[in-house]
Amino acid sequence: MQEFTYTANPGRVLFGDGKIAALAEEVARLGLSRVLVLSTPQQERQARGVADALGGLCAGLFAGAVMHTPVAVTEQALRVVRETGADGVVAFGGGSTIGLGKAIALRTDLPQIAVPTTYAGSEMTPILGETEGGRKVTQSTSKVLPEVVIYDVDLTLTLPVGLSGTSGINAIAHAVEALYARDANPVTSLMAEEGIRALACALPKITTDPLDRAARSDALYGAYLCGACLGAVGMALHHKLCHTLGGSFDLPHAETHTIVLPHALAYNAPAVPQAIERIERALGTKNAPRRLYELAAEVGAPRALRDLGMPEDGIAQAADQVLANPYWNPAPLERSGIERLIRQAWSGSPPA
Ligand code: NAD
Repeated sequence: MQEFTYTANPGRVLFGDGKIAALAEEVARLGLSRVLVLSTPQQERQARGVADALGGLCAGLFAGAVMHTPVAVTEQALRVVRETGADGVVAFGGGSTIGLGKAIALRTDLPQIAVPTTYAGSEMTPILGETEGGRKVTQSTSKVLPEVVIYDVDLTLTLPVGLSGTSGINAIAHAVEALYARDANPVTSLMAEEGIRALACALPKITTDPLDRAARSDALYGAYLCGACLGAVGMALHHKLCHTLGGSFDLPHAETHTIVLPHALAYNAPAVPQAIERIERALGTKNAPRRLYELAAEVGAPRALRDLGMPEDGIAQAADQVLANPYWNPAPLERSGIERLIRQAWSGSPPA
């Protein structure tokens, strides 16, 4: 008989084509009457459409969200919350905008509705990473979980092909690490395997035809499942590497995940045969690290950290940082192996 612990995160999820039409109803359902819509500057036009459609239920639009949730931006948004008397937030966008919604909720307890438009998965997690003074500090608290998540496939049609591929592989990384997490359990493992399968099938199709609605639907469904995995269990070496590399060298989030994943999985593979079996089944392959490396090429993603601007002398520095404050990992963390892994990701060579 197997034993496990599974902590489900609360939250209501709506999924489908055109689901944004349900936003006003969801705002009212939460008992809200003046929500502040959040977006990045790049998505301001789309977000304004959402705000306009809410009519009198909308208190305003703050289109200043940026990556890695700088505290200074959160403070600007909090001023707008106060000035407009907002009683809730609608985070419309990717992980950057959803991070801002979470940062506001942390400080105000305002209810949040997340409308994700990438595959990053933040909307399903109680995790918030914030930056201040060049340092990123991550915390986990149920205070930042959105009350409602609306997945509208239509809103992902505009996600550029490049970001669709890397954001999708970012999601796959959550599921890969969930399958060998210290607190892995049969429920998250089911979601993880299905999430990897859905995304791995959909991403090459989206690269060929970004308006392929069936593929977009599969990818968003996979992203939801992978985000739920990230929210339910702890992550290991892969996520530690990406946080370290992203923070130290200011590397873009989804691309960094895409490059590192095949190498991190190759490092852990000998220690996690059951997880590898499930990942291989989901990917339809007999060599999971290699298949993920090929998938990155198929979606046109970069495969070398040096192409993102990471300096070669950063390799040893990153290895030191990963070991200085490590996450739990199924395979023992050895200095030489970690440095080799980072060097391979830096140069873009196939996983060992
Ligand atoms: P992002 O939110 O920064 O979006 C990237 C760019 O794409 C932005 O300019 C955005 O406006 C644009 N964009 C997003 N969706 C679009 C669409 N459908 N059409 C056109 N343009 C669109 O990128 P991301 O990868 O989603 O998020 C990265 C951030 O999220 C990082 O700060 C990362 O740390 C955080 N994150 C947090 C968690 C968590 O659980 N806390 C999980 C994953 C990511």
